[in-house]
Amino acid sequence: MLQVIGKVVILEGFVSTKVSQMAEATETRFDPDALRERYRIERDKRLRADGNEQYIEMTGDYADYLEDPYIDEPIDRDPITKEVDVVLVGGGFGGMQAAARLRDAGVDDFLLIEKGGSFGGTWYWNRYPGAQCDIEAYCYLPLLEETGYVPREKYAYAKEILEHSDRIATHFNLYDTALFQTEVTELCWDATTNRWIVHTNQGDAIKARFVSMANGPLHRPKLPGIKGIENFQGHSFHTSRWDYEYTGGGPLGGLDKLGDKRVGIIGTGATSIQCVPFLGEASEQLYVFQRTPSTVDIRGNAPTDPEWAESLPEGWQKARMENFNALISGIPQSEDLVNDGWTDLIGKMMNQFQNMKEGDNMSLEEMIEMANFEKMEEIRGRVDQLVADPDVAEKLKPYYKMFCKRPTFNDDFLPTFNRSNVELVDTDGQGVDEVTAKGVVVGGVEYEIDCLIYGTGFEVGTSYTRRSGYEVFGKDNRALSEHWQEGTRTLHGMGSHGFPNLFIMNTSQGGFTANFPHLLDETAVHQAHIIGHALSAGHTTVEVTPDAEDDWVKTIIGFEGGPLGGLGGPDCTPGYYNNEGQPNPTAAQSAPYGGGSIKFFQLLEQWREDGNFEGLEFGSS
Ligand code: NDP
Repeated sequence: MLQVIGKVVILEGFVSTKVSQMAEATETRFDPDALRERYRIERDKRLRADGNEQYIEMTGDYADYLEDPYIDEPIDRDPITKEVDVVLVGGGFGGMQAAARLRDAGVDDFLLIEKGGSFGGTWYWNRYPGAQCDIEAYCYLPLLEETGYVPREKYAYAKEILEHSDRIATHFNLYDTALFQTEVTELCWDATTNRWIVHTNQGDAIKARFVSMANGPLHRPKLPGIKGIENFQGHSFHTSRWDYEYTGGGPLGGLDKLGDKRVGIIGTGATSIQCVPFLGEASEQLYVFQRTPSTVDIRGNAPTDPEWAESLPEGWQKARMENFNALISGIPQSEDLVNDGWTDLIGKMMNQFQNMKEGDNMSLEEMIEMANFEKMEEIRGRVDQLVADPDVAEKLKPYYKMFCKRPTFNDDFLPTFNRSNVELVDTDGQGVDEVTAKGVVVGGVEYEIDCLIYGTGFEVGTSYTRRSGYEVFGKDNRALSEHWQEGTRTLHGMGSHGFPNLFIMNTSQGGFTANFPHLLDETAVHQAHIIGHALSAGHTTVEVTPDAEDDWVKTIIGFEGGPLGGLGGPDCTPGYYNNEGQPNPTAAQSAPYGGGSIKFFQLLEQWREDGNFEGLEFGSS
């Protein structure tokens, strides 16, 4: 076994720390049948009939949870009615990358509309203590070479990411083109002028030749529909609107106002994993209410070596992003440049593959399953290593396939449960029973608290227009939600028939990669190419043809059960990866391109090189 690992290491360039991690894990013994049965039991007890309906939308009585705690004062300005070539909806990485690529294509007359008080998108909102990107910063932070920046650490904290947003905005001169604290309320196509009319909550009616929607996939926070949630009399907020006025401190910790507070946090997803250590350190008492444990792998952050940063050749970031993307897509590379928890699982699969070649008679599915068991045994073993109380450790162990839920990486979360002021309140998969005026009830016990924090995530399975917060009315006043009622209908995930001059930055029917800005950049380049061409050639409209849309829908559906079928499949414990375990009739059609992001990006590049804009119809009236 070790020899095989050795071969993988030598052949594929894995570094020595990985050798020891893999060697340890491969010696672990487990019973596959027992694990299969345990996974089934854990999934079944979490399945619930109400699926996505279990969550509460932040409207009406709950709208206050959406208020922006980061602005000094609300904006007060006159409505705008001007005309521009392009409106970009969203000032997160998507909108900023779209703007940067428009500038590259010679298109400068655009306006960015952003509901937050500045740029940053998800990183503007998610400033909770410990917020950090799980994807290596050298791959994740966009436009590093263009802006001449190398991140300070392998994994960047939110503060550095927000600073980088500012760097991009400054470099590409985006502040003058931005409308902040402005939310789009409706997009309407005006066929008489061939313009989109962009309505906002500030009373604007902006005319645009083109619109690109970079709304972001995890955009609308949600609350759990727990009985009595409206009765809580203490302080409460969602993690994406952290109330530092109440907790004290900032994104790097020091929550000095919590010293005399009993705090509860609901949820143990990627967000809570990061903020719980800071809450544990600062609160008088912390209760962590858990429904399903996350996988918590090694973080292993490290400062950037300045010599290495100096030595990076031109084109290094794209090469690194592509290397990472290939490895997490299961495509062997001569070198693993990133070498982290994401690429580790693939390393294990390569290891299994070597075994198979040497005589083991395993099918590809069995091989993948065994690699997955092995990785999860390692994750569960880590809980035993880091949590002193064996009962607490057992409750923190995830029993499902890796990638049923978003993997997390943290070195401080598990040891936090060794603190005497921190209690894990496990709900055995059932969730919190009730919220009362004074606290949270689980298993008949009321946990009295002063502050309740919702680490309960964001809407994913609801309709696109509900999540974006506005409807889009195209030709003949047809609503996008109606056009997509049976599932997404696009060409390349970016445009729909009946919605001319409209571009969508989205994973549905587009590419999918864990490194989301990589997808955003490929999309931004592609749409800038089309918009740039339309403007320079004097076309007034560009629209996806019905045939091209039909063909792309068939392509997407044709991949059902394909390479991406394993992510959050129906046998997984419920979560947003599998529509909370509910059958979803539109899932196959709304899935990302099943051939994987690498093929998808190649397909886009080839389409641009072909130069005939296949599937699009241009108008010049
Ligand atoms: P998630 O949706 O991942 O987690 C929500 C949590 O709330 C889950 O643990 C869920 O349990 C729990 N929950 C929901 N309802 C109840 C209930 N009634 N009682 C008890 N618990 C409940 O949200 P997050 O904000 O943690 O993460 C969302 C996404 O944001 C991540 O998946 C990731 O994509 C992204 N993110 C990315 C980071 C990065 O590094 N790039 C960092 C942080 C977040 P259950 O699992 O049982 O549903």
